[in-house]
Amino acid sequence: TDIKDLSQEDAATEIAALQADLKQWAREYYENDAPSVEDSVYDVAYNRLEALEAAFPALVTADSITQQVGGREVKSDLPKVAHPVPMLSLGDVFSFEELADWMATTQKSFHEPLAYNAELKIDGLAISLVYENGSLVQASTRGDGSIGEDVTANVRQIKRIPKKLNEPLTVEVRGEVYMPKADFVTLNEERERDGLPTFANPRNAAAGSLRQLDAKITKQRQLDAFLYFAVDAENVLGVTTQAELLARMAELGLPTNPTNAVVSSEADVEAYITNQTATRDDLAYGIDGIVVKVNNLAYHEELGNTVKVPRWAIAYKFPPEEALTVVRDIEWTV
Ligand code: NAD
Repeated sequence: TDIKDLSQEDAATEIAALQADLKQWAREYYENDAPSVEDSVYDVAYNRLEALEAAFPALVTADSITQQVGGREVKSDLPKVAHPVPMLSLGDVFSFEELADWMATTQKSFHEPLAYNAELKIDGLAISLVYENGSLVQASTRGDGSIGEDVTANVRQIKRIPKKLNEPLTVEVRGEVYMPKADFVTLNEERERDGLPTFANPRNAAAGSLRQLDAKITKQRQLDAFLYFAVDAENVLGVTTQAELLARMAELGLPTNPTNAVVSSEADVEAYITNQTATRDDLAYGIDGIVVKVNNLAYHEELGNTVKVPRWAIAYKFPPEEALTVVRDIEWTV
């Protein structure tokens, strides 16, 4: 139903139904690493909820899924870790038009023309790594953004994550742990042969493999990582832009993704997205979109964050791969 035709009562009923579905799906996805619906189904329901909440602000509650990062609470047997600087989610757009609107909105706050760093959106799970005097001392998952799970022993099993940086720095870096596509296929073949449940996709396989109580299991799984963020990067790493940050992290020996590009116009971003979409299937790892970030790090502080997402970055999500899914989504929303 068109939102403008809804009474407040009808909207409240629909919001309650959407919250119940989304919270159930979030539990399956974040806690059990076993989603029962496609991401696109989740995204359509989530966007409908956001639109309803925008039209009926009185119906927004603090425990709404739109006000929380990740799962509702961190239910896991792993020890917990606090994130003094919260680990956020990303706002998302699904068309070039919405992306251009977002760029125009960020530009409004500044006189000089903004540059943006475009990156691949790696389809894995977020990770935080703390290095003290150059040594890896703690690794944790995002959890609910403020409290994550301690996965230090497990992360030590990921070969490409260095236990020592090339310089004795104390820094918290963040990025994405993922499972390469080929390793996901092999893992699922093995699990099928052993009569074990298979993973729905490489993202859930990566999350399930990292969130293990026994690091020996993680060791048997092929995980890799790309880092793309550092807490207080300007002061700690002496960089001024997102693009410089990626180069600096690579210098320190951290795995970074090489496909980023600094872009300054809508046309440039569109070209980047078109090129990356064309080569997407050739990549050894899964991506589910493109992340566009304001390049100047000083502007990140000026733009700030909402309770859930930074205002200086946005995710452009790829359309769902199968046409069938799209048909199902449309039916689902009417
Ligand atoms: P998200 O995964 O859409 O985006 C935010 C995350 O992107 C960040 O936390 C970070 O981990 C990651 N990321 C990857 N590459 C990045 C880069 N280059 N720069 C910055 N961040 C990068 O958001 P989310 O809140 O984690 O999850 C929401 C999404 O998860 C939904 O849109 C849906 O697709 C999926 N989901 C699916 C189900 C389901 O049942 N299928 C349930 C819950 C969530």
